[in-house]
Amino acid sequence: TDDTATLQTHRIGLLEGDGIGPEIVPATRRIVDTAVAAAGVAVDWVPLPVGASAIETHGNPLPQVTLDTLTELDAWILGPHDSASYPPEFRGQLTPGGRIRKHFDLYANIRPACALPGAASVSPKMDLVVVRENTEGFYADRNMAVGSGEFMPTPDIALAVGVITRAACERIAHTAFDLASRRRKRVTIVHKANVLARTTGLFRDVCQEVGRLYPSVTVDDQHVDAMAALLVRRGADFDVIVTENMFGDILSDLAAELSGSLGTAASINASRTKAMAQAAHGAAPDIAGQGRANPIALILSAAMLLDRVGARADIEFSAAARAIEDAVRATVAAGVATADLGGTASTDEFTAAVIARLEA
Ligand code: ATP
Ligand code: MG
Repeated sequence: TDDTATLQTHRIGLLEGDGIGPEIVPATRRIVDTAVAAAGVAVDWVPLPVGASAIETHGNPLPQVTLDTLTELDAWILGPHDSASYPPEFRGQLTPGGRIRKHFDLYANIRPACALPGAASVSPKMDLVVVRENTEGFYADRNMAVGSGEFMPTPDIALAVGVITRAACERIAHTAFDLASRRRKRVTIVHKANVLARTTGLFRDVCQEVGRLYPSVTVDDQHVDAMAALLVRRGADFDVIVTENMFGDILSDLAAELSGSLGTAASINASRTKAMAQAAHGAAPDIAGQGRANPIALILSAAMLLDRVGARADIEFSAAARAIEDAVRATVAAGVATADLGGTASTDEFTAAVIARLEA
């Protein structure tokens, strides 16, 4: 009998992207393959064209075949893009990641900030997740509902419209409270209701309403400016932070940098039915092709993706997700790290060390 014929598999899209993408995406794939094999399951990878290479082969950084195939998938890994390097006709557009996010209404940007023992950290005890609403607020190009939210009635006056809807607040609040239920059961709602009373006030109120459906989760709320200070002062006290688009953009970078560095900051963008793993950093063109890139951010993003797929589809991926996180942490704790973390390991050496731990 052929063992592979009975192996349970799940399809996951694989989009390499630009810059260090062709280095960190394959590294992530090998680690995922090792971890899921140990759990007795497999990933059926679906490679898809995206970025500068897709411009060459398909005349578009986000070819229709990629969008069509993603429609059939519930999970994929997206490498970074260097859209500044694209020919001029593609430069004014949303990046491929932005277009994918918009096309599939990936409304939740989930960004953990968790220190890795052994790597430099301003807040070594931080272990929190920022849940950022991804479609509304003041970020017009990200907005599904109203198109451009900025305009200039005269050349000397610029206005921006911030949109907050009950429906979008409800769905992001559920994301945050569901997540907190599986963590330390605390949600902090971040707003600026003393100034932006209607918009961020609605955000706060709806999050509080949704919170009442989760009696086991403790809720508090903070103004965004106070939150920035508290993250620096006592960031270890927070579990899940839920906030609107622009505040989440800023606070997630702040928290990620306090806990670690660009090379370790993971993220997923998700809707109820789809999830995309994406490192928080960019394509790092300055070090591309040198084999020095830190793959941790994308590896940890992929682990989050597996955990999510495991919870939704009938496949045992959650154990693999935990094993990947443990192996990455143990590898860094043992002193194996890429140059950005002060180590000497290449991308391949770091990847091999993680794989060795997964196989042990
Ligand atoms: P984008 O506009 O796409 O967000 P960016 O201008 O923020 O890009 P990045 O590409 O994230 O820039 O890179 C910023 C700096 O961090 C660069 O010096 C880059 O080499 C470094 N860097 C980013 N990601 C990594 C990584 N995974 N490993 C090592 N260094 C990295
Ligand atoms: Mg950046």
